[in-house]
Amino acid sequence: ESQLNPNYSFENFLEGDSNRLARNAGLAVANKPGGTSFNPLLIFGGVGLGKTHLAHAIGVDIKDKYPEKTVLYISAEKFTQQYIDSVKKNNRNDFIHFYQIIDVLIIDDVQFLSGKSGTQDVFFHIFNHLHQNGKQVILTSDKAPVDMQDIEQRLLSRFKWGLSAELQSPDFETRVSILKNKLYRDGVEMEDDIIEYVAKHIKTNVRELEGAIISLIAQSSFNKKEITISLAKEIVEKFVKNTKREVSIDYIQKVVSDYFQMDVSTLQSKTRKRHIVQARQLAMFFAKKYTKASLASIGSQIGKRDHATVLHACKTVDNLSSTDKQFRKYVEDLSKKLSL
Ligand code: ADP
Ligand code: MG
Repeated sequence: ESQLNPNYSFENFLEGDSNRLARNAGLAVANKPGGTSFNPLLIFGGVGLGKTHLAHAIGVDIKDKYPEKTVLYISAEKFTQQYIDSVKKNNRNDFIHFYQIIDVLIIDDVQFLSGKSGTQDVFFHIFNHLHQNGKQVILTSDKAPVDMQDIEQRLLSRFKWGLSAELQSPDFETRVSILKNKLYRDGVEMEDDIIEYVAKHIKTNVRELEGAIISLIAQSSFNKKEITISLAKEIVEKFVKNTKREVSIDYIQKVVSDYFQMDVSTLQSKTRKRHIVQARQLAMFFAKKYTKASLASIGSQIGKRDHATVLHACKTVDNLSSTDKQFRKYVEDLSKKLSL
């Protein structure tokens, strides 16, 4: 009824530096739904980093502590579909009423509302009603509010009322614990060096990390082969090949600085010298193009600039590469150097 998955619990959501803020905020919200300043709580981050899991965990924990509360988990996509159906069937008001009497509303992947002004409008009214009545709203998104596009300003400003907490890629230790926990729950034994091999090579996505272990186990049981490092190697290679490697922002800064024969610290400096400004703008442009990092996060990593500066840099590079031949050559050369 609440659409919650009990396997997506806090207990199974392993803590690490990459998720500590979001996880703790989630726990705080679960202890006092509607009673903290984290309302809404917005959890954002890239694909497969645990947004859906954490959103469920909050709901599951609330149901545990407050069985009388109505908790509803729904994806923004399904919410949109329901809304469209209600309009067709002429019961838009019933739809709104249904959502206004919920105690804890969890909407997953709100970036899906981009450009859908009707659904945004109805969600705005539901949100205001819930918020005014001290009800808890939990949202997830693949981007921070500052980076969301085609979402109405009044809704974005509501998203920023509470806390936006980012889920980042887990570090090596956390990846190992996630794998060990999963194997333990599935009752599978595996040697540490194999687990560590997988954790070392699959870095950016927990879903893939788990996927690699699952196919490792499957391969070994189908083919009655022992799980060895060389089998792990085979499987990891397939996973890494299938997912386009993401270059890091550090790497981009290094390549751009080398190209212009300057140090990374010069590229990041506050100077307004034209060729340095251009190098910095190019680094920002490629960071936007080749990584999933938010504008805000790119800015903070490239000389502590804000998201507006990064956005401006991306536009400037776009403009210059269509009007300035020399500049276009920079972009082409750097693209070649950066493509793996
Ligand atoms: P997202 O919604 O961000 O795309 P999911 O919540 O679907 O990601 O997570 C993908 C998979 O990774 C799920 O199986 C989830 O249980 C697992 N996962 C993600 N983060 C963690 C974590 N910190 N501890 C344990 N499992 C995790
Ligand atoms: Mg998800």
